Amino acid sequence: MLRNWLRNFMIGRYGPDQFNMALLIVTAVLSVLSAIFDWWLMRILAYIALGYTLFRMFSKNINARRRENDRFLKYWWPVRTKIINQYRKFRGRKDYAYFKCPACRNNLRVPRGKGKIQITCPKCGERFIKKT
Ligand SMILES: [Zn+2]
Repeated sequence: MLRNWLRNFMIGRYGPDQFNMALLIVTAVLSVLSAIFDWWLMRILAYIALGYTLFRMFSKNINARRRENDRFLKYWWPVRTKIINQYRKFRGRKDYAYFKCPACRNNLRVPRGKGKIQITCPKCGERFIKKT
């Protein structure tokens, strides 16, 4: 009954996407912070973020919402990749040394503890000596 109602209600409406997920996370963070610091401005921002999330979710202007999501992803993907790379680097810090190729700036990973070795960049073929 309720499920049917919800399904009918959502017909022609936009629904969830990555941008809405991000907005929900922002809402949650702002709510927690406003509870800790008892800061009214943060609470208002949390309500605005939540309101915007709901507005997008139930919006019937699907094309406009899709464009917003595309714009969001365009900025978010490079940031996400950077975060993941930093995390990988951090996890592998005991086993690997990381260098940038002096010629093409390509990121290189070599095993640690091999002393001074010659590294060949797989992308451009540049050779350089580094202590690992
Ligand atoms: Zn290179």
